[in-house]
Amino acid sequence: MSTIPENQAVIFYDQNGGPEVLKYSTEFPVPKISETEILVKNIFTGINFIEVYFRNGIYPAKFPYIPGREASGEVVAVGSSVTNFKIGDKIAYLGNENFAQYTKLPSNKVSILNLGENVTNEQLKIYAAALLQGLTALTFINEAYKVKEGDYILVTAAAGGVGLILDQLIGKVKKAHVIAVASSEEKLAKAKANGAEFLLNSSELSVEDLEKKILEITNGKGVNAVFDSIGKDTFELDLKVIKRKGTIISYGNASGAVPPLPINRLSPKNITLLRPQLFGYVSEPEEFKHYTSELFKLIDSKQLNIDIHKVYELKDYPTATRDLEGRKTTGKLLLAIP
Ligand code: NDP
Repeated sequence: MSTIPENQAVIFYDQNGGPEVLKYSTEFPVPKISETEILVKNIFTGINFIEVYFRNGIYPAKFPYIPGREASGEVVAVGSSVTNFKIGDKIAYLGNENFAQYTKLPSNKVSILNLGENVTNEQLKIYAAALLQGLTALTFINEAYKVKEGDYILVTAAAGGVGLILDQLIGKVKKAHVIAVASSEEKLAKAKANGAEFLLNSSELSVEDLEKKILEITNGKGVNAVFDSIGKDTFELDLKVIKRKGTIISYGNASGAVPPLPINRLSPKNITLLRPQLFGYVSEPEEFKHYTSELFKLIDSKQLNIDIHKVYELKDYPTATRDLEGRKTTGKLLLAIP
């Protein structure tokens, strides 16, 4: 076992702003664990768009702020009363502050998968890439709106991290019709390869054109559900193209937050509107177990492919997020932790 250093490398920031506020330090203290905690040496950390909201101030961040929501790695220390983990166990987890070499976790945290000792780094890469976005897509298509065979479903950012997983689960696994919106032909080609059936280029079509096309595709009826991660720019479109009794799942703010709306705007078509977050579907141990086991069954049986755009070095996170925010990426972005 390698010794645990006093200091570690992290990405952090101490003020809100653009990517320029991000700092890389090798002088951050390694967290000390209590008797009920474990210390993990992170190996891969997943990058998620939500980091942008914390950094730019849409969501509140306490400074100094180390980003991160999910990672995989190896347990390097356990508290004296911990019995469910041992040094050398590989884990994958949903948890914070893992744009860092070391993260401490409560040993009773629900969202940790103990993978045992015999897991390769290649497998750890998939775990870190799949966990948050995979669980988001899987829980949303089962609980926010239960997608059925033959449904017409609108997916925005259809070549993004969550988007490519939604395309596969909705188009291939559930055998529904995916209407994909993305901003380039390359992105749409990727969405198609992942199960999308109808392709709409948001750089070429106005919102009115998108509405017209979606209504044409659905014979004027509209879609059964919308999975919308764009927020402000697409919410009015969602209201226009949703079918009577349809469900709008507004789950992200890539273009800004959806402004408050009077609830009677839902009345004309008896619309169901949800603004879910993943953690509300996997906070109980049985829920986390159920959905992680479903997710990795789909991956292991090759029904679901996790498309990794690029693995960046931890210190290069500013470049990674510029790529993500600049809409230059498809699929999942990862950090390799030194
Ligand atoms: P993506 O890989 O989907 O990247 C974001 C994409 O959003 C871009 O590629 C781009 O696709 C699109 N986009 C549209 N407008 C903008 C804009 N103004 N600026 C930047 N991008 C824009 O990211 P993730 O897969 O990590 O996340 C997707 C969304 O899902 C995010 O909004 C995220 O917050 C949300 N999310 C919500 C969760 C929840 O629990 N509620 C959990 C996980 C993710 P294009 O160019 O094709 O339009």
